[in-house]
Amino acid sequence: MAKLTVSDLDVKGKKVLMRVDFNVPIKNGVIGNDNRIVAALPTIKYVIEHGGKAILLSHLGRIKSEDDKPGLSMRPVAERLSNLLNKPVTFVPATEGAQLEDAINKMNDGDVLVMENTRYEDVKNGEQVKRESKNDPALGKYWASLGDLFINDAFGTAHRQHASNVGIASNMPQTAAGFLMEKEIKFIGGAVSNPAHPFVAILGGAKVSDKIGVIDNLLDKADKVIIGGGMTYTFYAAKGMKIGNSLVEKDKIDLAKEIMDKAGDKLVLPVDSVVAEKFDNDAAHKTVEGDIPDGYMALDIGPKSVAQFEDVLKSAKLVVWNGPMGVFEMSNYAEGTLEIGKYLGTLTDATTIVGGGDSTAAVQQLGVGDKLTHISTGGGASLEYLEGKTLPGIAAISEK
Ligand code: AMP
Repeated sequence: MAKLTVSDLDVKGKKVLMRVDFNVPIKNGVIGNDNRIVAALPTIKYVIEHGGKAILLSHLGRIKSEDDKPGLSMRPVAERLSNLLNKPVTFVPATEGAQLEDAINKMNDGDVLVMENTRYEDVKNGEQVKRESKNDPALGKYWASLGDLFINDAFGTAHRQHASNVGIASNMPQTAAGFLMEKEIKFIGGAVSNPAHPFVAILGGAKVSDKIGVIDNLLDKADKVIIGGGMTYTFYAAKGMKIGNSLVEKDKIDLAKEIMDKAGDKLVLPVDSVVAEKFDNDAAHKTVEGDIPDGYMALDIGPKSVAQFEDVLKSAKLVVWNGPMGVFEMSNYAEGTLEIGKYLGTLTDATTIVGGGDSTAAVQQLGVGDKLTHISTGGGASLEYLEGKTLPGIAAISEK
C-alpha cells in the first residue's frame, strides 16, 4: 500500500491547502532557526511551479490564552518564507472568515498564501476551546471548504489528531503526502513495516520508560537491539550489577528483566562506561568495565562498547538509531554518541536512519548527519511510529 504523494496530483489551477510544519523557535517576533521553513520549500515550490495556488497552514507554539497570540503570529514566518522563495507571500491575519476567503479567491496560479497560526483557534474570546487541537469537526470541514486538494507535509504533528491535519483530510476527496512526509513514511514507516536484514536498532537516551514501546516493537523486528545511554543502568541493575549513582528507574527494573528474558542474545548492552563523580563536564572521570563503582555515575559508553557495537553494526543492512549513547551535551561525555554516529556514516551498504528528537539534535550538533540516509524531523511522531502505532495524520493520507 503506497500513499498518494504530491507528484501524483494535478495541481494546475487548483487551490491546494498545505499543512506544513512552520513551528519554528521564535522570540519577540524574531525567528531563531528557519530549518523547518527551508525543509518545507521543495513541496511548496513543486506546487507553485506546477501552477497550483499554495494555501499554507501551520501551528506555531502553544496558545493557551489571548495573551499568547501576538507573540505567536505567523506573520514573521510568512515574511521569511517570502525571502526564501524570493517572491511575494500573502499573509492573512485570520484563521477563518471573509478576509481569508476573499484573499484566497483573489489568488492567481503560482501564488502563495499563509494563514494565521492554526492554534489561534484553540482560544476564542478568551476561552480555551481547543478547536484545532481537539479536532473540532466543524473547523476541519470549514478549512477543507477553502481548497480543492490537501497536502500534508507536517510529520511532526502526524501523531496528533488535529483539525488542520486529520480534520481537513477527512473532508477532502484526496489528501497527498508532501515530500518531507513521503520520506518519513518511506524510511521510518518502511523500517517498521518491511525492514531489510540484518536490521540493528540502537536505542539510547535517558529513560527506559520513554522507550519501552520502541524496545518492545523493535525486539520483534530487529536482529539485534543495542542499548546505550542512561537507560543502560536500569538494565545493569536488573542483572544485579552495581550502578553507583547512575541514572536508574527502580520501578522499571522488573520490566528490564522481562525484556532481557524475552530478548536473549538479541539485546546488546555496553561493556564499559565513562563514569564521573558528578553530573558535570569538569568532574573527575574515568573509564570502567562492568560494574559502576560507588560514588560515580555513568555518563557515556566507553571505547570497548563502541568497538563492540561497531562489530554488531558492520554487517547491518538497516540501522535505526533513537537516543544518544551518553550525555552528548557535555563534551567529555559526547564521545560514544559521536563515534557511533561517525561509524554509521561509513556503512555505505546500509540504510541508516536517525529517529528524531534528541538523536536528531545530537547528530546535528556533532556534525555526523551528512552521511546518514535519513534524519527524522519528528520527535514524538517518530517515537510513536517506531513503536508501531498508526499515526492518525498518516492514516488520513489517501492511498495511491
Ligand atoms: P531521550 O530524550 O530519552 O533520547 O534522552 C536524551 C537525553 O538523555 C540527553 O539529554 C542525554 O544527555 C541524556 N543521557 C544520555 N545518557 C545519559 C546518562 N548515561 N546519564 C544521564 N543522562 C543521559
